[in-house]
Formats: sequence, structure tokens, C-alpha cells
Amino acid sequence: MTEEKTAAKLRQEELFLKKQNGYDKIDEASIVAMDEYCDGYKKFLDNAKTEREAVKAAVSLAEEKGFVPFRRYMSLKPGDRVYVSNRGQSLMLAVIGTRPLDEGINIGAAHIDSPRLDLKPYPLFEDGDFALLKTHYYGGIRKYQWLSVPLELRGTVIRKDGTKTEVTLGGEPGDPFLVIPDLLPHLASAQSEKPLGKAVDPEAMNIFLGSRPYPDKEVSERFKLAALDLLNQKYGITEEDFLSAELCAVPAYSACDIGLDRSMIGAYGQDDRVCGYASLKGLFDAEAPEKTAVCVLADKEEIGSMGVSGMQSQAFDTFIADLCSCLDAHLRTCYENSFCLSADVNACYDPNYADVYDKRNSSFINQGVTLCKYTGSRGKSGASDASAEVMGYARKVFHHADVLWNVSELGKIEAGGGGTLALYMANRNIDTVDAGVPVLGMHAPFEVTGKLDCYMMYLAMKAVYEAPVAI
Ligand code: MN
Ligand code: MN
Repeated sequence: MTEEKTAAKLRQEELFLKKQNGYDKIDEASIVAMDEYCDGYKKFLDNAKTEREAVKAAVSLAEEKGFVPFRRYMSLKPGDRVYVSNRGQSLMLAVIGTRPLDEGINIGAAHIDSPRLDLKPYPLFEDGDFALLKTHYYGGIRKYQWLSVPLELRGTVIRKDGTKTEVTLGGEPGDPFLVIPDLLPHLASAQSEKPLGKAVDPEAMNIFLGSRPYPDKEVSERFKLAALDLLNQKYGITEEDFLSAELCAVPAYSACDIGLDRSMIGAYGQDDRVCGYASLKGLFDAEAPEKTAVCVLADKEEIGSMGVSGMQSQAFDTFIADLCSCLDAHLRTCYENSFCLSADVNACYDPNYADVYDKRNSSFINQGVTLCKYTGSRGKSGASDASAEVMGYARKVFHHADVLWNVSELGKIEAGGGGTLALYMANRNIDTVDAGVPVLGMHAPFEVTGKLDCYMMYLAMKAVYEAPVAI
């Protein structure tokens, strides 16, 4: 009887897939390395609240690691490290491998833009003795989440004379913050009857900029004038300068540890800077890659990857074509032999909202990187559905490097949906699959990730870049 049971158990162990919490699999040394990695990641998040800031932070880290600006027709040899900043809004980096580019490259592609509140072209007005700023939200936000949270103003203004000013209100210690106050519950009877998605009018998401009037009582619009006067003193801008500006309101909190055990990270913009940072650090630490390793940190993913700095832009093709011409290879041949890990976050199983997940096919915290064969919605619509071969390749790469991983879908089939960069890479004739870190509260002003998953994402990216040709 006992013997039979043991045989069955052995058979079970042989055949069954075992899902395990990553903490039951990793050793003490990995936990130390994980904590150190996550400290660096939190610092990066605090310095990278917009895509422009992320590019700046990434370039300065890259230069410390020996990366130099790429020049067309420069001579390149294995081990060389180059980067191209695409208008300061997206970034492409490469470590030249020992194999010809015609044999393909290994790409890690993440996005560094995150949902936020952009200012409208004519943002400034006054009402009720307040100076206010009109906003137009960027990306898929749940509007109510952005009320009554401290905000910072970050961005770039091109003044009338063509000079550029960087705005980082809230970025310096002691800086004031801004806010859109929510409606008090005492007067919310009518609003509370509305469906959640309709309860907050986006035209009423106006930021409170100030409440002290300009001292001279003789002028009109004294609250607007006082605010503009301060903006002018601090940044040298006038009202017309808003017309050539990209100003974004982003949450004012710094990244922090979450949980008594400090096992999680809470911060704004982890979708998708958690994968952006991992793609970057993985490239820095990739040891002598055989195939050329390329990291892309793209902009505009949250609004469809359009435009010059989005993943649909030819900027990427131009960079790879330029590398090909430096190294005597052909772009099309290079693409058809390449692999891309589209590094983007996924929805972490949340016990508070269990009914939107298929528990058998969800990503769980601390199980490592989650591979996602397809995204899209309602019957995989709009998805780049990775082939069995590509999934098999990713499995092999992760196993080879002892990366903890699982496979998941975003949620229940008709619960909603989403997309990533994957289809734009796949459309280029590059084998592509999504993988990323599970996130709680995705697109909220404060998102939560597991430290173990953040660290595994780094190991996964490093493994992709380092993957031997004969794996
Ligand atoms: Mn994303
Ligand atoms: Mn997103």
C-alpha cells in the first residue's frame, strides 16, 4: 500500500507542474543581491517620473558603465557599448556581440512613459479665489484615484525665444506640492449614484496652483497673475509659453518599501519602469554577449506607441539599420533572426478582486517573471500571439539562467484587456514574447510590486542578452 503510494507520488512529481513561491526557492545570497538591486531601482524611480527624466537617468547610469553616444558610420567591435537618445524621450542602447548581426540580435524592449495628468495648452485660469490648471489625462487612468493625492509638476517648456526650461516643481526637498481635492462625502450624494467611470468629470480635474492674490488690488485676475508671476520668477515663463510645453502632473510620493517584511515596493510609474530598469541593468551586466544585445526604452506606449518616440516609430529601425551598416549586415536578415522580450508588467493576482482573475492562469506575487503568450482582449483581439517555439525558447533561456518564472494571462477572458509593445516588434518580423513583473493596482498613482519579481526581471533580461547561440 505504502509502496504503491510512493510510486504514485513519484509519478506525480515527474508529471505535474509545481508552482511555488519564489522565497522557497532562492538562497540567502540572492536575497541580499535582491535587496541591493531594489534599492537602486527605488532611486531610479524617484529620478524618473516622466519619460524624459527616465532617459536622463538612464543615460547617466549608462555613461558610468562605459556607454558612448552612437555616431553613424563609427567603427564598432565586440564589447563596444553605444546609445542613441531619441529626442530625449526614448532611448536605445546596444552592446556589440561577437556574432555577425545577420545572425540576429537579442532585444529587451520596455516603455518608460506612465499614466499621468498632462496640462492642456491653455491651462491657467482662476475661479473661487484659486489659481487653477486644466489637465488632460494621459493613458488609461481611473480618474477617481488621482484626486486628493499630492502632485508634482514635471516637464519641459520651450520659451518664445526658443530656449528650453525644465520644470521640476516638487522635485527638490522642501518644494510645495499641488493637488486636485476630491468632493467631500457630505455633498457627494448625487455623484455617488453615478457609475464609477462617470463619477469624475475629466474637465473638473483642475489642479489647485495657488490661492494668494497679486497684491495690487487695481488689476483683474489677481490669482492667475500671482501664480503666473511666481512661475515667471522660478522658470522665466509667460502664459504663451504653455503653448509650447509638455507639463505633466505626477504623484509626489517617493518609492518606498511596503509590508512589515519590506517584501514589496510601492511607487508611481512602476508600469513599466520596473521592466525599463531591469532591461537597462541587465544590459549593463550582460557578460560578453554572443549576439548583439539591444535595450529599447520606449515612449508613448500608454497611448498606443504612436509618434516619433513610440515603438511604432522608425527611429528603432534606423538605429538597427545604422548598426547593420557599421557591421556590414542587412536589416531584414538581422530582424528575421532576432528575438525580442517585450518587457512589460502584468496584473498580479489580488485576493480583494479575485473574481476578475482566472486563478489557474494568473501571475502571483513572488513567483518571478511572468511570461505572457498573448495580451489583447475578447478572443485575443489585438494581440501578438507568441508561437509555441518562441515560448519554448524563452523557457529554455530562463531555465538556463535559473530565473524564476511562470506563465499568465492578464485576467478573465472578458474582464477587460490590454496591450504592450510586443505586436510592434513582431510586426517587424522579430520573434517576440511578453514577460514582466506582476503589479498590484496597475495605473494607479501608487503601484505595488514584489521585490523578488523585480529582481527576477533583471536576471531574466540579463539572461536574454547573454543567451548563447547554441542554447
Ligand atoms: Mn505597460
Ligand atoms: Mn500601462
